[in-house]
Amino acid sequence: MKYILRNKLRLIPMALTAFLLTLSLTACGNASGGAGSAEPEGAAEEYSKTVYAMDIPIDLKAWGKQAREAVEEAGQELQRIDSLLSVTNAESQIGQLNARTGSTISGETLDVVQDSVRLSELTGGAFNITIYPVVRAWGFTTGGEYRVPSDAEITELLTHVGMDKFTLSESGNDSAEVVFSDEKTMLDTGAITKGYASDRVYEIFDSHGIDSALCSLGGNIITKGKKTDGSQWRVGITDPFNPDDYCIAVAVEDKFLVTSGGYERYFNADDGIRYIHIMDPETGRPVDNDLESVTIISDHGAEADALSTALFVKGRDAAIDFWKNCTELEFDMILIDDDGTMYVTEGIADSSTATGNYPVKIIH
Ligand code: AMP
Ligand code: MG
Repeated sequence: MKYILRNKLRLIPMALTAFLLTLSLTACGNASGGAGSAEPEGAAEEYSKTVYAMDIPIDLKAWGKQAREAVEEAGQELQRIDSLLSVTNAESQIGQLNARTGSTISGETLDVVQDSVRLSELTGGAFNITIYPVVRAWGFTTGGEYRVPSDAEITELLTHVGMDKFTLSESGNDSAEVVFSDEKTMLDTGAITKGYASDRVYEIFDSHGIDSALCSLGGNIITKGKKTDGSQWRVGITDPFNPDDYCIAVAVEDKFLVTSGGYERYFNADDGIRYIHIMDPETGRPVDNDLESVTIISDHGAEADALSTALFVKGRDAAIDFWKNCTELEFDMILIDDDGTMYVTEGIADSSTATGNYPVKIIH
């Protein structure tokens, strides 16, 4: 069986799911390893660095008196969060839960899991951190071979999937116990971790008085404040049909932009079908609907990350209904469907510019 892995975030260190139109992050530090770059004293205080965490190179760039301290601290924080939550690291808190070598999680991990529970409920289960046994069976995140599980195998695996298959009990000393009711249930916060980490990076920048920053964690972009010339950041959203290009640009400040798309990671199987890394928790199969990508634009990184995954699972019409009816969450979005139409919510309609030939429809 021939499998093709397409994960441009791994293969091209500087390729971004969202292209940054007005700032070239390729000029940002080194591609790996973490050497930073700083302006000489007295010049615009700018500092940038690329760190490797969460399986991708992450570009951090900030301007301000404490730019260096802020970026260095953010880089360490990203690696710390990775070591806490990585599903592929048996020593992480999530890794230990899944291997049943530990059942205690810190207050911070509890926050991420509780947020995941909340977003799972709000999205009617489309976001589901217990989908991991299914994700693994298809070969995603295992580092092994991609494969198409049989229907019987999927049916069996789905019996271990469900947000009701674990309970959390806070122990009072900033930790909690996780108890699984099913021996094979596992957790994977991978679809929200980068967003959570983005929130932390933003907070760290804030604590260092940084009012202009731009970071890229794969499909997660953080914009802080405006550019130093006073204009807004213009972030380009990847063309899912041609991922080396972008198809729409959005002008923003102080926003998190998170894109989920099948083009980010997939394999082509012998049956001629392209199987992607985002699973429909109802079917136990890779999402195969009318959407090519979902971009969420929000004030909250973790929410944006979970929502981009969940609304991708839901499909175009259900995602639009969700945006119209969900009163608990405030966000804008760009959906790109399989015939190339871009659906842009009204809040960002005026600040979005199509850069190709795809038609745009405004959602009110
Ligand atoms: P993202 O790139 O944020 O959309 O997250 C996708 C990753 O989250 C996948 O690579 C899986 O590890 C995991 N995942 C896949 N499907 C789901 C789902 N329906 N809910 C939560 N996590 C998922
Ligand atoms: Mg996500």
